[in-house]
Amino acid sequence: MPPSPSRAIRGRLLTFSGDPAELGAEASHRYLEDGLIVLEDGRIARVGEARNLLPELPATLTVDHYPESLIMPGFIDLHIHYPQTQVIASYGAQLLDWLQTYTFVEEQKFSDPDHAATVARFFLDELQRNGTTTAAVYCTVHPESVEAFFTESARRNTRMIAGKVLMDRGAPEGLLDSAQSGYDQSKALIARWHGRGRQHYAVTPRFAITSTEAQLEAAAALMGEHPDAHFQTHLSENLREIETVKELFPQAASYTDVYDRFGLLGPRALFGHCIHLEDGERARLSESGSVVVFCPTSNLFIGSGLFDLERARDPVGHPLRVGMATDVGGGTSYSMLRTLAEAYKVLQLQGQNLPALQAFYQITLGNARALGLDQNIGALEAGRDADIVVLDSRATPAMAHRMETIQDNLAEELFVLMTLGDDRSVRATYIAGERLHSR
Ligand SMILES: [Zn+2]
Repeated sequence: MPPSPSRAIRGRLLTFSGDPAELGAEASHRYLEDGLIVLEDGRIARVGEARNLLPELPATLTVDHYPESLIMPGFIDLHIHYPQTQVIASYGAQLLDWLQTYTFVEEQKFSDPDHAATVARFFLDELQRNGTTTAAVYCTVHPESVEAFFTESARRNTRMIAGKVLMDRGAPEGLLDSAQSGYDQSKALIARWHGRGRQHYAVTPRFAITSTEAQLEAAAALMGEHPDAHFQTHLSENLREIETVKELFPQAASYTDVYDRFGLLGPRALFGHCIHLEDGERARLSESGSVVVFCPTSNLFIGSGLFDLERARDPVGHPLRVGMATDVGGGTSYSMLRTLAEAYKVLQLQGQNLPALQAFYQITLGNARALGLDQNIGALEAGRDADIVVLDSRATPAMAHRMETIQDNLAEELFVLMTLGDDRSVRATYIAGERLHSR
């Protein structure tokens, strides 16, 4: 006897099979006005028209019916700092001062496992309230912070990517490891957590300014020993940061070259920001298949500059794999909907656009592909994890009022959702088939 389905979700389904920029809007997505997703053992067992599937299913099956809602794969955030939930909304500083004044003060508290556990719970609650089901997460330098994060994520069975920040210089004593201790601690955390259930480890040097050459070498050794681990760091965010990197690494040809010299570029690598790249850096990031991560609310709030999406995607230049992220606490919202709204504005300031279908592709299948996890997440398809978000395009009076003018136009509805929507638009979030949030 095959296992019997436990639950189904019914409503308007939207999922992507490819990049609208490559396939065209129509061929890139599938939309069902009255669709059904059948869940089984945390995965999606079947997807189709409700009228076709329902007669074949047991009458006792629980069906969560959302007739007006738009049901999509859970959102994916490619760059976020869980220890910065009480740093978000800190006033008046650009990157390097912001780190010293606010972040490095707050992150020292994470040597305390109880504090780390409390914040990890808050953080994952907040992601779920916003429909985010997977994220690439920076912890602090303390192994306790990673332990607390993965423990809470495993308890909820969320698919998360996270790692201990490596920092052996340029920060207060309480936030420093050494090349050797950072290596040893990361190694132990990889052994304990990477591939355990739905948890994935990311080797995480914060950025070149806070790691010596010896530490970057240790990070490269970890990646060599664990080629299926992820890698994440920051790159080319702020002009003063770039000047400092050039002073610290005078022999490197560029900021990107600092990482490249240690073999840290590649398809498993996520580089946060990448705002001020030179041509040679684009070439190396492109050749190596590295991912550059656009963090729009952070671009604006930290005042670092505007990510150039058109240039990043330029097929005749050095096309880059692109991800999108909140970058909380440099970013100002946990919501991927708010993130899309600000992405649109960052691009408008440069004479560029972000079509709504492209935007929702990016925060679902696009980000799943950037992680190399698109066989598991990012689409409503049989065999994928049942990580699902249920969205209400009429969640506020302003949205409902605006929606009165839109009839049967999916792209227009999606644009309202990304421009006016936030956590109030998230009616429900399912993690591995369990509804962990609803409103
Ligand atoms: Zn960041």
